[in-house]
Amino acid sequence: MTASRSVLASQAADYPRWFQDVIAKAELADNGPVRGTMVVRPYGYGIWELLQEAMNRRIKATGAANAYFPLLIPESYLQREAEHVEGFSPELAVVTHAGGKELEEPAVIRPTSETVIGEYMAKWIQSYRDLPLLLNQWANAVRWELRPRLFLRTTEFLWQEGHTAHATFEDARAYATKILYDVYRDVMVNVLAIPVVAGRKTRRERFAGAINTMTLEAMTGDGKALQMCTSHELGQNFARAFDINYLSSDGERELAWTTSWGSTTRMVGGLIMVHGDDAGLRVPPAVAPIQVVVLAVRDETIEAARRIADDLESAGLRVTVDDRTDQPFGRRAVNWELKGVPIRIELGPRDLAAGAATVVRRLRDSAKTAVNLSDLTSTVVDAIDTDQAHLLQEATARHTARTTAVSTVDEAVEVAAAGWASLPYDAVGEEGEDRLAESGVTVRCLQRPDGTLPLDDTEPDLIAYVARSY
Ligand code: AMP
Repeated sequence: MTASRSVLASQAADYPRWFQDVIAKAELADNGPVRGTMVVRPYGYGIWELLQEAMNRRIKATGAANAYFPLLIPESYLQREAEHVEGFSPELAVVTHAGGKELEEPAVIRPTSETVIGEYMAKWIQSYRDLPLLLNQWANAVRWELRPRLFLRTTEFLWQEGHTAHATFEDARAYATKILYDVYRDVMVNVLAIPVVAGRKTRRERFAGAINTMTLEAMTGDGKALQMCTSHELGQNFARAFDINYLSSDGERELAWTTSWGSTTRMVGGLIMVHGDDAGLRVPPAVAPIQVVVLAVRDETIEAARRIADDLESAGLRVTVDDRTDQPFGRRAVNWELKGVPIRIELGPRDLAAGAATVVRRLRDSAKTAVNLSDLTSTVVDAIDTDQAHLLQEATARHTARTTAVSTVDEAVEVAAAGWASLPYDAVGEEGEDRLAESGVTVRCLQRPDGTLPLDDTEPDLIAYVARSY
C-alpha cells in the first residue's frame, strides 16, 4: 500500500477520474481558459520533447525534411477537396475579423495542412526528378472537438504532420507503410513501451479525403482502444484538387500521388493510460525527463546525494536531486511516485553510514533494496534498461489477455465492455459496423490473419479488431 493512493481515484472505481487526477497530481497539464484547450506544464512538456526527438530522428531517417507552413489557411483551399471539407467542416475554427475589419476571405486555423501544402507542392514540383517530395512539419492544429479530454482530444494539439508526393501509387503506398512501421511503430514499442496493433481502417473510419488509412491502436488500462497515430494514402485526390502534376520521363504530364501522416500530444495520454497505476504515472525511461531522483533524507546527506547524482549523470542518465529536507520525507517520496520517475534513490544517514543507498524501482514492485554505493551506478543503469523492457512486457501481456476471439457482432459487443474482440470481418460488414456503432463500439482496424496489412477492406478473410475507444 502506497500513501499516494489516497490522493487519486482508483482505476477500478473511476478510470476517467483517475486519468484526470494523474494529469493534475503529476503536474503534466492543466485545462486552458478556452474550453478544450490545454496548458502543458514543464513536466508534461519534458516528456513531449523527448518523444518528439525520438520521432523526429526516425522521420528524418526516412528522407523527409522539416518545413513550416502558415497557421492560417484561406477558406477556399479546404473547399477544393469535397470529402475533406465535408469531414472537417464541423470542427473548423474560422477567422473572419482581423485588424478591426471583416476579412475579404475568411481564414481557417489549420485543422491539418493537406490543402496549403498541396498548393505549394504544385508550385515546387515540375518533373519526375522533383519526386518524391518528402515534407514534415512540427506545429499545432485546431479542431473544435465536442468532447474534449486532456491530451487525448484537445481543441488545440501539438503534432507532426508529414506530407509527401510521389510519382506512383506503389511508391506512395510503400512510403506511407514505412512511416507506419519504421517510424510510428518503432517509437510506440521501443520508446513508449506501448504494444500496438497495426491495421487498416474501414471505409467508415477513414480520414476525410484519403483512399486508405493505416493506424496503430493501443489498449488502455481499462481495456478500451486508443488510436495512437495514422498514416494515409491520399491517392490522387489532393493532387487533382491542387494540380500537383509532373512531367514524366516519357514527357507526359502526370498527377502525383500523395500521403499524409500524423502523431500528436495524444501519445502522452496513451502513455498515461497504458502504464499508469493506482499510485500514479509510470514513465518509460526512454521518455522520462527525470530517470532517477536522489532524495536526501536529511541535511547531512545532501552532499553525498549530489555526488551520487553527478556519477549517474556521467553515466548518461537524467537525474534530479531532491534536497527539500524542510518538507516531510514521506510526502516527497509520494510526489516522485505520482510523477512516475523510474528510479528513486533514498539516502539517509543510516544508509550512508553503512556505505549504501536505498533503491526503489517504480516500474517494478516499488520494493526497497539496499545497494552498496560502489555498485550503485551500474545497478541503476541496468535497472533503467530492464525496467523499460518490463513495461512493454507487462502491457503486452495485458493486451493479449484482454483480447478475445469471437465469431459474431453480438459477442463482440459483449466482450468490448471490458476489452477487445477480434472476429472475422466477413461477420461484420457495413451493416455490422452500424450495429456496433449503436452500442458505442467501433472496428478499430483490419488485419490479415498473419498480422500483415491488407491492400484494402475488400480482401477476404480479414480479422477485425473491435473495441470501445477514447
Ligand atoms: P488525422 O490527421 O485526423 O489522421 O489525425 C492524426 C492523429 O492525430 C490521429 O491518429 C490521432 O491520434 C490524433 N488526433 C486527432 N484529433 C486529435 C485531437 N483533437 N487531439 C489530440 N490528438 C488528436
